Amino acid sequence: LEVPDNPIIPIIHGDGIGQDVGPAAQKVLSKAAEETGRDVNWMRLYAGESAREKYDENLPDETVDAIREHRVAIKGPLTTPVGAGFRSLNVALRQTLDLYANVRPTYYLDGVPSPMKAPEEMDMVTFRENTEDVYAGIEWEAGTDEAEKVRDFVEDEMDFDDVMHEGPIGLGLKPISEKGSKRLVREAIDYAIENDRDKVTLVHKGNIMKFTEGQFGDWGMEVADEEYPDDEVFAAPDSLWEEQDEVDIPEDAVMVEERLADAMLQWMQLRTDEFDVLAMPNLNGDYLSDAAGAQIGGLGIAPGANFGDNRCLAEPVHGSAPKRAGQDMANPTALILSGRLLFEYLGWDDTGELIRDAVEETISSGTVTYDLARQREDAEKVGTTEYAEAICDKIEDLA
Ligand code: NAD
Repeated sequence: LEVPDNPIIPIIHGDGIGQDVGPAAQKVLSKAAEETGRDVNWMRLYAGESAREKYDENLPDETVDAIREHRVAIKGPLTTPVGAGFRSLNVALRQTLDLYANVRPTYYLDGVPSPMKAPEEMDMVTFRENTEDVYAGIEWEAGTDEAEKVRDFVEDEMDFDDVMHEGPIGLGLKPISEKGSKRLVREAIDYAIENDRDKVTLVHKGNIMKFTEGQFGDWGMEVADEEYPDDEVFAAPDSLWEEQDEVDIPEDAVMVEERLADAMLQWMQLRTDEFDVLAMPNLNGDYLSDAAGAQIGGLGIAPGANFGDNRCLAEPVHGSAPKRAGQDMANPTALILSGRLLFEYLGWDDTGELIRDAVEETISSGTVTYDLARQREDAEKVGTTEYAEAICDKIEDLA
């Protein structure tokens, strides 16, 4: 991506706690950019509740068009009201902009309370397919004519008449395509190669869902096997069923293996240091990355970004946490570290490092927001604004 000297970066503060963490993170990110000799030109955009107030719609064209034009953006959380007829704005944004890879690095920061025995061993990056699977939203509500039509088709035309119970039924589809699977796995492998990672693990439930999850695994292994030389990427044979200790892997090659999703949640906690880069379909990725985030301090810490071809929309893993909204309480770290991902995408690695170091030193010195303070007796609990100011001071010290 070619980056102008003072790039325009669209920013959406977001709903709920977005009004607290949005401005706080923006201040920290500006400070880190400035201290590393860079200038960010923020462009404030609206989506969700704030867009409804301003434009009377949830996702104005202006917002989508600006992200498309400037190619990078950062957003806080958006609330999805529960109930019929309301599609998630986050999902809509990812689909409209074809941001097909949701990337969530999970690494440990010193001083963060964790339930794990050796949290410092956690250093994983999850690549979650972002546009298909059961999150595509192809569903039919129980009791509607459409749901009954789909039931009739599946029972009569496809000969599945003994599978579904009588009475109302909700139905949904799980599309998993060759294109969607392969481009996601390719991203994960390229990331592993570029960042000197040893392994890419494809996580699926292909033993049960053979033609969707299983096919994801097969297509992923095909990418590893056919698109890269063996001494660069090594597709581990039969890794689902056999230990790979005996396999002769070319030195310096990235190994690509498969794991079943349920077992993976266990391995992730018991053998944390064995995993590196993970690639998986949408639903697995959602669950697994939240669970991984919990092991390194929870949602207040966990950053993420969505990538498409030449496009990046950074956003934290967490939602709008309405209970905490507007109280200057929430932890802006996840949004700040999502900004770090965005800056690194622009090639601003030194700015990213400075952000990470300043956040880590602030937390380890004991200045934390409520979510970490309640797990650390020696910590001083501060509000969102004060915490962000402490990070800005650290940035100044470290720069
Ligand atoms: P949530 O992530 O908003 O909150 C769950 C809990 O985690 C909160 O009650 C709070 O205790 C804690 N938490 C989350 N972020 C925190 C932070 N920065 N600092 C401190 N504590 C934090 O999840 P939810 O309650 O399931 O969802 C609320 C709303 O957010 C829903 O409308 C949902 O659709 C939406 N959501 C949006 C996104 C997104 O914008 N990408 C992601 C997830 C959920």
